[in-house]
Amino acid sequence: MAITKVWVEEDCISCGVCEDLCPSVFFVEDQSSVKDGADFAANEEKIKEAAASCPVEVIKYEEE
Ligand code: SF4
Repeated sequence: MAITKVWVEEDCISCGVCEDLCPSVFFVEDQSSVKDGADFAANEEKIKEAAASCPVEVIKYEEE
């Protein structure tokens, strides 16, 4: 299984946890967003940790 897609749904509360855990993928300004060209393969565990740690559970990803 490899992460092929990562996105942030509505209702991010801009807490910054995802960027703290995985700054190479997530960027938080008004809302969290996924950086263009982010290397998902190199950050799989951190992406999963960020998704599990998001207090409002808006970080989603797909694996193939
Ligand atoms: S952890 Fe969740 S709520 Fe916090 S900034 Fe990231 S996406 Fe938004």
